[in-house]
Amino acid sequence: MTSTIALLGHPVSHSISPRFQQAALDALGIDARYEAWDTPPEDLPSALERLRSRDLLGANVTVPLKQEALRLIDRPDALAERIGAVNTIVNAGGVLEATNTDVAGVLRSLEDGGVDLAGANVVLIGAGGAARAIVVAMREGGAARVTIANRTAARARALVPLGGEDLELRVIPLDHASEQLRAAMQSARLVVQATSLGMRDGPDEDASPLPAELFHAGQAALDIVYVPEQTPFLRAARQGGALPLGGLSMLVHQGAESFRRWTGQPPPLDVMFDAARAALDETS
Ligand code: NAP
Repeated sequence: MTSTIALLGHPVSHSISPRFQQAALDALGIDARYEAWDTPPEDLPSALERLRSRDLLGANVTVPLKQEALRLIDRPDALAERIGAVNTIVNAGGVLEATNTDVAGVLRSLEDGGVDLAGANVVLIGAGGAARAIVVAMREGGAARVTIANRTAARARALVPLGGEDLELRVIPLDHASEQLRAAMQSARLVVQATSLGMRDGPDEDASPLPAELFHAGQAALDIVYVPEQTPFLRAARQGGALPLGGLSMLVHQGAESFRRWTGQPPPLDVMFDAARAALDETS
């Protein structure tokens, strides 16, 4: 019997996850199909019911369903609860278990980029769903302080409870001219761009939330946006002397962790990266 793994989101047609997940399944000879199921929010309960069938191994969950899926799932793990969102569901004999592999995705991509988080000061731009996973990842990775700048300050303040004894969280305005942002950038070993600015078909494809002059050499700059591969933020970071890190690595690593949970097998990372890059090249 051919098994199925679903991608639940709305819209999902632009996603490159089916490309690199199917390549990984095929490379390991696993008889399964990874299918994108376009799921408007009102159809999420019925899509989750379908996931309980014997031939379904599980699912990925993407925008805008990650938070609502947490509410509806049988057994979310502690990480998903802390972040307030799930991105991976495993069908365990009709019981739906869920976790969030975005944290592992960020940590592995930073490891690949040679970034040491231990004791680091970090600037995080953005405070949406992905930013929540970034904050939890910074805590897991041993960062000392995360300074969050977001267009809507109230949304940034909602992230503060994710900090703790070991991780200080501060909120400052997203204002290039502000001394607070300048000082935070000066002491930051890592800057993470987690807004949808710069994303193709997003709110502003040509905008970077930070200008080149705020970056410096010896600093790493991760843009979690991965379409296009070269974003305005990454261009500004490179121009300012920082090490630019694109979001494709985070995407593939979070998918690889999901793959491990559905199949119980080590993910073929090289195959996944090659397929993801080929899929991106076709869109550019
Ligand atoms: P979200 O929950 O909708 O949050 C969007 C964020 O972008 C908020 O901080 C929002 O600020 C900010 N924003 C939107 N338009 C803006 C504008 N015109 N000016 C300034 N800020 C603006 O989205 P999300 O789920 O966090 O995703 C954010 C991005 O990350 C997306 O591009 C997504 O594709 C990418 N992502 C990548 C990965 C990966 O694996 N690489 C994983 C997850 C997400 P306000 O709070 O002020 O609205």
